[in-house]
Amino acid sequence: MLAMAAYRLGFRTHIYADEGGPAFDVTARSTTGSYDDLERIATFAQSVDVVTYEFENVPVAAAYHAQRWAPVRPGPRALAVAQDRLQEKQFAWELGLAVHPFAPVDSEADLRSALATIGTPAVLKTRHLGYDGKGQARIAALQDAAAALASIGRHSAILESLVTFAFEVSVLTVRGVAGEIVHYDVPRNEHAGGILSRSTVPSLLPAEHVAEACRIGARAADALDYVGVLTVELFYCPGAKDHFLVNEFAPRVHNSGHWTLDACHVSQFENHIRAIAGWPLGSVERHSDAEMLNLIGADVLDWQRIAADPTTALHIYGKNDPRAGRKMGHLTRLSPRRAHRAAK
Ligand code: AMP
Repeated sequence: MLAMAAYRLGFRTHIYADEGGPAFDVTARSTTGSYDDLERIATFAQSVDVVTYEFENVPVAAAYHAQRWAPVRPGPRALAVAQDRLQEKQFAWELGLAVHPFAPVDSEADLRSALATIGTPAVLKTRHLGYDGKGQARIAALQDAAAALASIGRHSAILESLVTFAFEVSVLTVRGVAGEIVHYDVPRNEHAGGILSRSTVPSLLPAEHVAEACRIGARAADALDYVGVLTVELFYCPGAKDHFLVNEFAPRVHNSGHWTLDACHVSQFENHIRAIAGWPLGSVERHSDAEMLNLIGADVLDWQRIAADPTTALHIYGKNDPRAGRKMGHLTRLSPRRAHRAAK
């Protein structure tokens, strides 16, 4: 989707990935190589004017290496923060953003003392390489501790208290090379089995809470001297002193912003490309109300019915195998934009 947005603006893309995928079908050039192959990364970076990434598990060393030949936007520090759940929470906390209680866990003894401080229920998460609820175990009571640690493979982890929230939202912040910032409307996100299933705009957050969420995005983007789209996933707790708790940063365009392709003047993908290219940022205005539903696994086989619905934009990613839990595409249902209404 980034490559297609870039093409529309007259750019040619060169995609580096450790295995071929749908993006290779829509790019002028592609290189298959390991993210640890610094020689290949160097050759790649020498062939382009700017490097970006759309997946936060690119090794930080690869991003620093590429930076020797071309600007890497967003910078490698954003990758480092987002790759490690402990650094991520510490970064938010040091910025003065509200986060739920957390503690590092490297052993069963750590886990027991973290549980003594944080209490139950809690969630144990691997520090690295977790996504879509993978590498996580919920802990309802102290006696679940050993089993939880074993279930995440005894990797370095953090323990977080299990938050009771009204709903989840995300802030999609775009920051340009000169530090200018715009935000898309804040979507309300619903998950099933740890995977995003639906994003809805408007979220029905009160306008002042939308503004508060946007300030969180801006704060983080400024602190990272960020260029591109930064997504901050938030838990909305309207009755609490802090209305939002920071769950996670994604240094990239985000699944909860896919509706921007069909409901906005300029999508998150185009704005990311504009930002990294040093162009003026485009309008983030939303012209329609929208509901984005992910097509996960076999959901995509229903494409004929979805394609026949005139209110719906269908996106199929061209992945071969509709395995359970795999994001195969999404649809966005559009309706005329209503006046702002806050949730009760
Ligand atoms: P994550 O991979 O951390 O984004 O977690 C996936 C989903 O699990 C989140 O979007 C939440 O729905 C849920 N979740 C994660 N951490 C917590 C928490 N500390 N309290 C409550 N729910 C959580």
